[in-house]
Amino acid sequence: MKLILLGAPGAGKGTQAELLCEKLGIPQVSTGNIIRSEIKSGTELGNRVKSIVESGALVPDTLVIELLKNRIAQEDCKPGFLLDGFPRTIPQAEALEEICAVDAVVEIYVPDTAIVNRMSGRRTCPSCGATYHVTHNPPKKENVCDSCGADLIVRPDDAPEVVQGRLQVYHEQTEPLIAFYRDRGLLKTVDGERPLEEVSASIYEALGIQ
Ligand SMILES: [Zn+2]
Repeated sequence: MKLILLGAPGAGKGTQAELLCEKLGIPQVSTGNIIRSEIKSGTELGNRVKSIVESGALVPDTLVIELLKNRIAQEDCKPGFLLDGFPRTIPQAEALEEICAVDAVVEIYVPDTAIVNRMSGRRTCPSCGATYHVTHNPPKKENVCDSCGADLIVRPDDAPEVVQGRLQVYHEQTEPLIAFYRDRGLLKTVDGERPLEEVSASIYEALGIQ
Protein backbone atom coordinates (compact mmCIF):
# COMPACT_ATOMS: atom_id res chain seq x y z
CA MET A 1 0.00 0.00 0.00
CA LYS A 2 1.40 3.39 -1.03
CA LEU A 3 0.43 5.99 1.53
CA ILE A 4 0.80 9.63 2.40
CA LEU A 5 0.22 10.86 5.94
CA LEU A 6 -0.84 14.48 6.41
CA GLY A 7 -1.42 16.50 9.53
CA ALA A 8 -0.37 19.66 11.26
CA PRO A 9 2.88 19.68 13.26
CA GLY A 10 1.96 18.30 16.66
CA ALA A 11 -1.00 16.26 15.38
CA GLY A 12 0.78 13.03 16.24
CA LYS A 13 1.90 11.99 12.77
CA GLY A 14 5.27 10.59 13.83
CA THR A 15 3.90 7.99 16.21
CA GLN A 16 1.09 6.95 13.89
CA ALA A 17 3.51 6.65 10.97
CA GLU A 18 5.67 4.25 12.96
CA LEU A 19 2.73 2.12 14.03
CA LEU A 20 1.28 2.03 10.53
CA CYS A 21 4.57 1.03 8.89
CA GLU A 22 5.07 -1.73 11.43
CA LYS A 23 1.53 -2.98 10.92
CA LEU A 24 1.83 -3.06 7.13
CA GLY A 25 5.49 -4.09 6.98
CA ILE A 26 6.35 -1.15 4.75
CA PRO A 27 9.19 1.37 5.05
CA GLN A 28 8.71 4.98 6.03
CA VAL A 29 10.21 6.99 3.20
CA SER A 30 11.40 10.37 4.38
CA THR A 31 12.77 12.82 1.85
CA GLY A 32 14.96 14.31 4.60
CA ASN A 33 16.59 10.91 5.15
CA ILE A 34 16.97 10.30 1.42
CA ILE A 35 18.76 13.62 1.03
CA ARG A 36 21.05 12.91 3.98
CA SER A 37 21.98 9.43 2.75
CA GLU A 38 22.52 10.68 -0.80
CA ILE A 39 24.97 13.26 0.51
CA LYS A 40 26.75 10.57 2.52
CA SER A 41 27.02 8.30 -0.53
CA GLY A 42 29.46 10.70 -2.19
CA THR A 43 28.09 10.03 -5.69
CA GLU A 44 27.99 12.78 -8.30
CA LEU A 45 24.33 13.38 -7.53
CA GLY A 46 25.12 13.29 -3.82
CA ASN A 47 27.76 15.96 -4.24
CA ARG A 48 25.35 18.13 -6.20
CA VAL A 49 22.81 17.83 -3.38
CA LYS A 50 25.50 18.53 -0.83
CA SER A 51 26.55 21.80 -2.42
CA ILE A 52 22.91 22.94 -2.60
CA VAL A 53 22.26 22.09 1.05
CA GLU A 54 25.52 23.70 2.17
CA SER A 55 24.67 26.91 0.33
CA GLY A 56 21.56 27.08 2.51
CA ALA A 57 19.18 26.75 -0.45
CA LEU A 58 16.25 24.35 -0.62
CA VAL A 59 16.80 21.25 -2.73
CA PRO A 60 14.67 21.89 -5.84
CA ASP A 61 11.52 19.78 -6.26
CA THR A 62 12.75 18.23 -9.52
CA LEU A 63 15.80 16.87 -7.72
CA VAL A 64 13.81 15.64 -4.71
CA ILE A 65 11.47 13.82 -7.10
CA GLU A 66 14.43 12.22 -8.86
CA LEU A 67 15.82 10.99 -5.53
CA LEU A 68 12.41 9.79 -4.42
CA LYS A 69 11.91 7.88 -7.66
CA ASN A 70 15.18 6.00 -7.08
CA ARG A 71 14.28 5.29 -3.49
CA ILE A 72 10.83 3.82 -4.15
CA ALA A 73 12.24 1.63 -6.93
CA GLN A 74 14.23 -0.26 -4.27
CA GLU A 75 13.31 -3.76 -3.16
CA ASP A 76 11.95 -2.86 0.30
CA CYS A 77 9.36 -0.52 -1.28
CA LYS A 78 7.79 -3.33 -3.34
CA PRO A 79 4.95 -3.98 -0.85
CA GLY A 80 4.41 -0.22 -0.55
CA PHE A 81 5.67 2.69 1.52
CA LEU A 82 4.60 5.59 3.64
CA LEU A 83 5.76 9.01 2.52
CA ASP A 84 6.94 11.25 5.30
CA GLY A 85 7.55 14.98 4.82
CA PHE A 86 6.57 14.91 1.17
CA PRO A 87 4.62 16.31 -0.62
CA ARG A 88 4.27 19.59 1.25
CA THR A 89 2.99 21.72 -1.61
CA ILE A 90 0.68 21.37 -4.63
CA PRO A 91 3.54 21.48 -7.19
CA GLN A 92 5.22 18.66 -5.26
CA ALA A 93 1.99 16.65 -5.22
CA GLU A 94 1.63 17.13 -8.97
CA ALA A 95 5.22 16.03 -9.55
CA LEU A 96 4.64 12.99 -7.35
CA GLU A 97 1.64 11.97 -9.48
CA GLU A 98 4.00 11.75 -12.43
CA ILE A 99 6.15 9.08 -10.78
CA CYS A 100 3.68 7.04 -8.74
CA ALA A 101 0.02 6.57 -7.87
CA VAL A 102 -0.66 6.53 -4.14
CA ASP A 103 -3.47 4.36 -2.78
CA ALA A 104 -4.62 6.63 0.01
CA VAL A 105 -3.86 9.85 1.86
CA VAL A 106 -4.57 9.84 5.57
CA GLU A 107 -5.14 13.17 7.29
CA ILE A 108 -4.86 13.26 11.06
CA TYR A 109 -7.01 16.22 11.99
CA VAL A 110 -6.48 18.11 15.24
CA PRO A 111 -7.76 21.69 15.68
CA ASP A 112 -5.10 24.36 16.18
CA THR A 113 -6.26 25.21 19.70
CA ALA A 114 -5.79 21.60 20.78
CA ILE A 115 -2.31 21.48 19.23
CA VAL A 116 -1.23 24.67 20.95
CA ASN A 117 -2.59 23.25 24.21
CA ARG A 118 -0.71 19.98 23.79
CA MET A 119 2.57 21.65 22.94
CA SER A 120 2.48 24.45 25.46
CA GLY A 121 1.81 21.96 28.26
CA ARG A 122 4.98 20.02 27.44
CA ARG A 123 7.84 20.16 29.90
CA THR A 124 11.29 18.75 29.29
CA CYS A 125 14.10 17.89 31.66
CA PRO A 126 17.25 19.69 30.46
CA SER A 127 19.39 17.23 32.38
CA CYS A 128 18.12 13.73 31.49
CA GLY A 129 15.75 14.46 28.59
CA ALA A 130 12.60 13.09 30.25
CA THR A 131 9.36 14.66 28.96
CA TYR A 132 6.15 15.50 30.82
CA HIS A 133 2.86 17.24 30.22
CA VAL A 134 1.29 19.49 32.83
CA THR A 135 -2.13 17.84 32.49
CA HIS A 136 -1.66 14.51 30.66
CA ASN A 137 1.58 13.32 32.27
CA PRO A 138 2.57 15.60 35.17
CA PRO A 139 5.69 15.00 37.28
CA LYS A 140 5.08 14.00 40.92
CA LYS A 141 6.36 17.35 42.15
CA GLU A 142 5.40 20.40 40.13
CA ASN A 143 8.07 21.40 37.61
CA VAL A 144 10.64 18.92 38.95
CA CYS A 145 11.94 15.89 37.04
CA ASP A 146 10.86 12.55 38.62
CA SER A 147 14.01 10.79 37.44
CA CYS A 148 16.78 13.23 38.30
CA GLY A 149 15.30 16.11 40.29
CA ALA A 150 16.28 18.87 37.84
CA ASP A 151 13.94 21.83 37.18
CA LEU A 152 11.84 21.30 34.05
CA ILE A 153 11.84 23.72 31.12
CA VAL A 154 9.63 24.59 28.13
CA ARG A 155 11.69 23.80 25.02
CA PRO A 156 11.91 26.80 22.66
CA ASP A 157 10.21 24.65 19.99
CA ASP A 158 7.18 24.16 22.23
CA ALA A 159 6.63 27.85 22.98
CA PRO A 160 3.10 28.89 21.90
CA GLU A 161 4.29 31.57 19.43
CA VAL A 162 6.66 29.11 17.74
CA VAL A 163 3.90 26.50 17.50
CA GLN A 164 1.49 29.11 16.05
CA GLY A 165 4.10 30.02 13.43
CA ARG A 166 4.51 26.40 12.33
CA LEU A 167 0.73 25.97 12.16
CA GLN A 168 0.44 29.03 9.95
CA VAL A 169 2.99 27.64 7.51
CA TYR A 170 1.09 24.36 7.49
CA HIS A 171 -2.21 26.06 6.71
CA GLU A 172 -0.77 28.16 3.92
CA GLN A 173 1.38 25.55 2.21
CA THR A 174 0.21 22.09 3.00
CA GLU A 175 -3.49 22.36 3.72
CA PRO A 176 -4.31 22.89 0.00
CA LEU A 177 -3.18 19.29 -0.41
CA ILE A 178 -6.23 18.17 1.56
CA ALA A 179 -8.54 19.50 -1.17
CA PHE A 180 -6.19 18.21 -3.88
CA TYR A 181 -6.43 14.63 -2.61
CA ARG A 182 -10.09 14.91 -1.70
CA ASP A 183 -10.83 15.80 -5.34
CA ARG A 184 -9.04 12.61 -6.36
CA GLY A 185 -11.08 10.49 -3.95
CA LEU A 186 -8.00 9.47 -1.99
CA LEU A 187 -8.46 11.39 1.26
CA LYS A 188 -9.30 9.67 4.56
CA THR A 189 -9.68 12.06 7.46
CA VAL A 190 -9.26 10.73 10.98
CA ASP A 191 -10.05 12.60 14.19
CA GLY A 192 -6.69 12.95 15.95
CA GLU A 193 -8.01 14.46 19.14
CA ARG A 194 -8.30 11.11 20.90
CA PRO A 195 -6.05 8.57 22.62
CA LEU A 196 -3.31 7.12 20.43
CA GLU A 197 -4.84 3.62 20.18
CA GLU A 198 -8.19 5.00 19.03
CA VAL A 199 -6.54 7.13 16.36
CA SER A 200 -4.61 4.06 15.14
CA ALA A 201 -7.77 1.96 15.05
CA SER A 202 -9.55 4.63 12.98
CA ILE A 203 -6.65 4.78 10.52
CA TYR A 204 -6.69 0.99 10.05
CA GLU A 205 -10.44 1.06 9.58
CA ALA A 206 -10.26 3.90 7.03
CA LEU A 207 -7.67 1.91 5.08
CA GLY A 208 -9.63 -1.33 5.36
CA ILE A 209 -6.88 -3.20 7.19
CA GLN A 210 -7.34 -5.50 10.20
ZN1 LIG B 1 15.60 14.58 34.53
